[in-house]
Amino acid sequence: MAYHQIRGNENLVAKLETITKSENVHHAYIFEGPLNSDKTGIAVSFAQALLCKKSPGTGCGVCPTCRMIESGNHIDIIRVKAGASKNSSVQSVRDNDIENLISRLNTKPYEADRNIAVIEDADTMSRKAANRLLKTLEEPPLGTVIMILSENITDLPVTIRSRCVHLRVLADDAKQNDLAEKTAGFVDLLTSRGSYISLKRTIEKIGKDRDKAFIFLDSLEDEYRKRLLDMDSSIKKEVIFKAVDEIEKTRKKIKGNVTVQYALKALTLNLGG
Ligand SMILES: [Zn+2]
Repeated sequence: MAYHQIRGNENLVAKLETITKSENVHHAYIFEGPLNSDKTGIAVSFAQALLCKKSPGTGCGVCPTCRMIESGNHIDIIRVKAGASKNSSVQSVRDNDIENLISRLNTKPYEADRNIAVIEDADTMSRKAANRLLKTLEEPPLGTVIMILSENITDLPVTIRSRCVHLRVLADDAKQNDLAEKTAGFVDLLTSRGSYISLKRTIEKIGKDRDKAFIFLDSLEDEYRKRLLDMDSSIKKEVIFKAVDEIEKTRKKIKGNVTVQYALKALTLNLGG
């Protein structure tokens, strides 16, 4: 997917294009965005723009290099993402994968003029893996570009964050809009101690789908933050901060394999429903 094929995220794409057309490509970027944002797609486009010879700086999306990057088969793009481990059903980036990625970055690229690493689900890295990665970020092999994909930058060590250029990927608008209306009503119900039946129904619906639950939590957080800026809002600041905190805890619970319905129910109770 070349830059011009990306839907939404216009500001980010413009920023990326400026970077890839310049001589000043930094060695590490964090792409932070919610679960339903296409961080991987954006990272792939960025890699295409960096390596495409036909349309340098933008990527053409159709040459053999661009196609190999798109299909995940380019030899100089090393990709890592979360998987289940032997001891746990929780999906996380394996230490071993980070080790292999680092040693591969220390060898010369085979076809391209640089190596590129894409680390998806980076917030799930262990501290050990993060420390290993940090060393590479401190002394990156020449030309290397490392992309770190994260749902929540605060889950990454500050030492890693400070070495990277931070970029924000916005959520898929269509999916977001679908839930936005519901969420606004949800906050009203919660704060006015509205009908419990109605709350329960909303939760039951959303709780059936893990992805939807994450989108819901994102827009619920947005909704609370909006109230923070709204002078007429009757909700106290402390209540909003507590809600944002509870929403983050709920995300962690769901990631840690608590059932979605249970986690959402607990959230409603904690928020005063
Ligand atoms: Zn191309």
